[in-house]
Amino acid sequence: MKETLTANIMTKILEIQNLTVSFDGFKALKHLNFSMNEGELRVVIGPNGAGKTTFLDVITGKVQPTEGRALFKQKNLRSLAEHQIARMGIGRKFQTPRVYLNLTPRENLELSCNRTKGVFDTLFGKPSKGERKTVSGLLETIGLTTKADIQASLLSHGEKQRLEIGMLVAQSPTLLLVDEPVAGLTDEETYQVGELLIALAQTHSILVIEHDMEFVRQIARQVTVLHEGTVLFEGTMDEVQNDQRVIDVYLGQSTNSTEGAS
Ligand code: ADP
Ligand code: MG
Repeated sequence: MKETLTANIMTKILEIQNLTVSFDGFKALKHLNFSMNEGELRVVIGPNGAGKTTFLDVITGKVQPTEGRALFKQKNLRSLAEHQIARMGIGRKFQTPRVYLNLTPRENLELSCNRTKGVFDTLFGKPSKGERKTVSGLLETIGLTTKADIQASLLSHGEKQRLEIGMLVAQSPTLLLVDEPVAGLTDEETYQVGELLIALAQTHSILVIEHDMEFVRQIARQVTVLHEGTVLFEGTMDEVQNDQRVIDVYLGQSTNSTEGAS
């Protein structure tokens, strides 16, 4: 009885229906169907060219679908501009960090909290008590409290990635889209990013694209495998690793290599 109730209450945060994207006739996505529930942490994997980044491009409004639609909390995202979609609560982290290197982590986070205020006000106006509290909380979450006031250029690659995830969270999105967050990181840095995403998943819905299978194993609950623009398989990590089709098109060739895509 209780289970039925929970199932009914669970709302879909993202629903992709029959999505096709053509680039001059080449179909990067083909009749793709996908959905995830509010509060879910979902990992999407797949070989290079499978359409993973294009999939995020459609959700964020960077690319318009040729056919089908993407719904965020039941609202059709069609023909909305990127900034409108961002304002609805979808935040995206790109593969390369985009932090201001000449500012400190604290200043970077203050800027992200105050998108509308502008750089000048953020740096020279006084942050409110509430803002300061939010920023110190974020610094703690991303594990950069002790490095809060050094120049961001001095951070390691992994620390920059965590800072950028913090900057994304500072904009209070409900859905976080994260494209290959551990490409080029050491094992230790990778593990820390994984722990950060697991912690953030308690309060956010998160969609992560990743190649690094060790990392996927660390964070994954439900995994979606993309191949040639469509969903090849969906299941737990164990199910994914034991599926013959997934092994044939993806795992068989990538178990010994984490060569990244873009
Ligand atoms: P992934 O992120 O899974 O590696 P992408 O979504 O980047 O895959 O790309 C899927 C396919 O679509 C690739 O074959 C790629 O070359 C092609 N593609 C992506 N973006 C464009 C574009 N703007 N114009 C033409 N082809 C593109
Ligand atoms: Mg990609």
